[in-house]
This record gives sequence, C-alpha cells and structure tokens, in this order.
Amino acid sequence: MMRYASDGRPLPTPTDTSRPFFEGAREKRLVLQRCPRDGFFFYPRSHCPSCLGVDWQWETVSGRGSVHAFTVDRVGHDPALASQVPFAVAIVELDEGPRMSANIVGCEVDAVSVGMRVEAAFEDVDDITLVRFRPCGD
Ligand SMILES: [Zn+2]
Repeated sequence: MMRYASDGRPLPTPTDTSRPFFEGAREKRLVLQRCPRDGFFFYPRSHCPSCLGVDWQWETVSGRGSVHAFTVDRVGHDPALASQVPFAVAIVELDEGPRMSANIVGCEVDAVSVGMRVEAAFEDVDDITLVRFRPCGD
C-alpha cells in the first residue's frame, strides 16, 4: 500500500526483509546484505540474487561510491514529487560493488556528473529515514 509523508512525498513501507536496511539508515549507517559466496547485493531481498541462498548477513558498508548514471527531473513527472523539482536521481555504484538508486543531494543538479564521488546521506522523513547520496571529497 502506498503511503505519503506529511509533505506529500511517497514513502517506502519496511517489510520483514527490508526493516534492517531502514533501521541502519535511522542510525546513519548504510547496511547491505552480503552472501558468503557472492558478496554484497542490493536491494533488500529474501534470497541472494546470484545463488538464491538464504544464509546472507546484514553488514555495514562504507557508504561511498560513484555516480554510474543519473537523470534530473525538472518538471515533476510524479505529481507527488512536484514540490521537490529539480532533483537528481542516480544509480550509484558502491565501492563494495552493488549499484543502488537514490537521490543526489547537497549540490545543484547541474553539478551532478557520471563518475562523481559520493557518500551516503540520511534524511529523516516522518517515521522513516531515507538514504540519499551527496558529493564527497575523495
Ligand atoms: Zn549467493
């Protein structure tokens, strides 16, 4: 079921599988599942996407990575996000390997570029913490 923040943005609903991801975010930690055979993966899922194993563990990762690809919404394609434009949505390749999608914050949208180094940033929205990425110095 879709739910919305007090400012109108859509919010994720943690499940039994994804709850540790959001609990980590609340503590300002980026946590990912890691399979003992195949390494880290994203997004939260009940089985390793490579071997379908269930013996993965949650681990805190560096939160650092590089912009692999991005787009900028300047018009508000989703009416629920129209108040947020312009905003950048990127696929970030984490230093640990997996790619995850997230908003890029902390800079003008025109400053976002492929290859830009970023680090996780955390935004508390009502009862949940969202993972974003912002430029970092390395
Ligand atoms: Zn695996």
